[in-house]
Amino acid sequence: MYSFNYHIPKNIDEATTLFEKSNEPKYLAGGMTLVASMKQRLTAPSDLIDLSKMDTLKSIVVEGKNLKIGALTTHNSISKSKDIKSTISGLCDLSNGIGDQSVRNFGTIGGSIANADPAADWPAAILALKSQIETNMRIINGEEFFKGMFETILDEKEIITQISFEIPSYFTYVKFPNPASRYAIVGIGLSVYDKIARVSVTGASHTPFRASEIESALSKNFKIDSIPLNSVSSENLNNDIHASAEYRSHLIDVLTKDAVRTYTQ
Ligand SMILES: Cc1cc2nc3c(=O)[nH]c(=O)nc-3n(C[C@H](O)[C@H](O)[C@H](O)COP(=O)(O)OP(=O)(O)OC[C@H]3O[C@@H](n4cnc5c(N)ncnc54)[C@H](O)[C@@H]3O)c2cc1C
Repeated sequence: MYSFNYHIPKNIDEATTLFEKSNEPKYLAGGMTLVASMKQRLTAPSDLIDLSKMDTLKSIVVEGKNLKIGALTTHNSISKSKDIKSTISGLCDLSNGIGDQSVRNFGTIGGSIANADPAADWPAAILALKSQIETNMRIINGEEFFKGMFETILDEKEIITQISFEIPSYFTYVKFPNPASRYAIVGIGLSVYDKIARVSVTGASHTPFRASEIESALSKNFKIDSIPLNSVSSENLNNDIHASAEYRSHLIDVLTKDAVRTYTQ
């Protein structure tokens, strides 16, 4: 590693002021991606602005029909939260399937979505659920958040403060994990709001997306047999050492069936 300045601001204002004053700053959450990238010299910030001591960004609150999770909440806290278990229990399972115990102890929901890794699990929840990303500057509709591989619509100095999910009648997340990292080779999020299904796909492409053909079929008839096969063509899917594009297209069908089967059991 090389030298850099390290700051621990007490609040958002202090953090943004530090950001503006620094040369090439980066916000730090649990460091699970950022520190590893620095060690590999893929990124070289002049200043690390550590958000992890801001306890106000670690809350989990149920407010009316919404579940609100602070951006600095770790995957581990989410997987163990009684409030999340009683409202959107599928999010506890999603968190519990991320990486290993040490990654879950440090990695955060905000850091995960800000990083926008195409194989990350949280983007599937952001798209399958009706969600809003709250920042120090605005509220962003979950569907508008991801722009591309490792790319979101966040401004450089913008800080995610909270993620809000409208509580559905059902949500589940199923993934085919990479056996080493546990990142999703393909992951499917499925939610139901007033009998309307929402289906999201992560891991399969550069950017997470909603599978609209599957959504309309399931909204008409919520049965495994109604899932259209090969509806997501392999043409735009990732083709890499982990899986071919054709295999990923097939996994989308298989995992969506698993998600529907979980609902109907
Ligand atoms: C071995 C390993 C296995 C993993 N397996 C999985 C897996 O199976 N599934 C999965 O989904 N993920 C996996 N991850 C990623 C992990 O889930 C972390 O959540 C992710 O790396 C982000 O880490 P972090 O929260 O510590 O953020 P950091 O690494 O601290 O930051 C990541 C990026 O987000 C920015 N950032 C952080 N917080 C904010 C904020 N509040 N506002 C704005 N920008 C912010 C930072 O500036 C940085 O650019 C794995 C990671 C490792 C190391």
